[in-house]
Amino acid sequence: MYNRILIANRGEIALRIIRACKEMGIESVAVFSEADRESAHVRLADQAICIGPAKSVDSYLRIDQIISAAEISGAEAIHPGYGFLAENAHFNEVVRNSQFDFIGPTPEAMEQLGDKNSARAVALAANVPVVPGSDGLLVDEDHAVHTAREIGYPVLIKATAGGGGKGMRVALNEQNLRTALQQAQAEAKAAFGNAGVYLEKFVDRPRHVEVQIIADHHGNVCHLYERDCSVQRRHQKLIEESPSPLLSERTRTAICEAAARLVAAAKYQNAGTVEFIVDQHDNFYFIEVNARIQVEHPVTEMVTGIDLIQSQIRVANGQPLPFRQEDIQLQGAAIECRINAENPQKNFQPCPGLIQSLFVPGGLGVRFDSHVQAGYSVPPYYDSMIGKLIVYKPTRQEAIACMIRALSEIDITGIATTASFQIDILRHPDFLSGNVDTKWVERDLLAS
Ligand code: ADP
Repeated sequence: MYNRILIANRGEIALRIIRACKEMGIESVAVFSEADRESAHVRLADQAICIGPAKSVDSYLRIDQIISAAEISGAEAIHPGYGFLAENAHFNEVVRNSQFDFIGPTPEAMEQLGDKNSARAVALAANVPVVPGSDGLLVDEDHAVHTAREIGYPVLIKATAGGGGKGMRVALNEQNLRTALQQAQAEAKAAFGNAGVYLEKFVDRPRHVEVQIIADHHGNVCHLYERDCSVQRRHQKLIEESPSPLLSERTRTAICEAAARLVAAAKYQNAGTVEFIVDQHDNFYFIEVNARIQVEHPVTEMVTGIDLIQSQIRVANGQPLPFRQEDIQLQGAAIECRINAENPQKNFQPCPGLIQSLFVPGGLGVRFDSHVQAGYSVPPYYDSMIGKLIVYKPTRQEAIACMIRALSEIDITGIATTASFQIDILRHPDFLSGNVDTKWVERDLLAS
């Protein structure tokens, strides 16, 4: 096993990885920007190295600085967390060429699945359903018009290099499509330096269901069941849960097996997530792969009892998975709420600043993964998530009641947070019945 691991990240995920290292007897090396000098991940790691000024382009995105820090510290492997460089295949390759293990997939698998159009091709070849759409990238406007006529409006134009909803446009008719195509291409070019776009049928009121995968270097691929992340605002997930409330047992089995098939076809190793949308008739369609650990991984840990970060480290180190598919049981119900420093009263405007006081909820089945405490100042430079509140109970109903109780206990003064807004969601009859889709928050909750 490794003696020392460098964590190329900050915030709660850096802490999460440090904790896994400690439990495994591995030393952890934190890197930090000047704005994070007082951060918990710096304090809790065995070593900490400053890699530059506050802005992430000058620190957490500086490949050269991170590699130097790894060399100086004597780390043998690098965990990228999520965000920042986690899905950057170039970084992954530099890590490998510098003789460190990258705790994640190979650069080749990352590249193949990171490009949405090529991931779609892998899915098709592995007999995994994809949303009906164009055969590859759109070559010109006529190609788009022709494809849209075949599959029927509305259609969705998507950037092959896309992420965070950028380069995505809905078109309701042909006239729409011509302008939307240009806009999507321009936006994709500006955001990703790649104007490649393709077309998909726009699925009405979809649910977002994703499957957690872990695969070792010995050909073993296991799925750890699904998470439902349909509660979103502007494509940002707000609440995640496992199991998905409305999925039939038959669809659950089919979607999990499809995800494992896709990952096996790409010879993908380590942890990853296969994302699907599910329509009103329980048909599921592959949309993309996230080639990294995700924010919402704890709900899967709660319902399966498997420590995903420890598993990632063992797999990267070449160890075979200690379980087989049939050993993995989904038990109980887990829900996660992302607590963001944002003001729901002011259109979710980010709300960085000093946390004057903080009361953290507890009790049976409550977990709070967070890097913040009283006296901590949330810096304006990074994303606004300050913690994840996770609950685990025997049933979904009990988990909802526990989450409402925990959210009403959490008390943060000094900055605004999304906690009270999450209570409104959890109390809503549509959420209780599981009857929500990815546009529900914007359409039925915020608009009313
Ligand atoms: P990004 O990587 O930019 O976040 P995704 O491909 O993951 O883009 O899609 C983001 C969200 O957009 C999905 O969670 C889903 O809500 C919605 N979406 C994606 N594809 C479709 C589709 N074909 N029809 C309807 N909604 C879609």
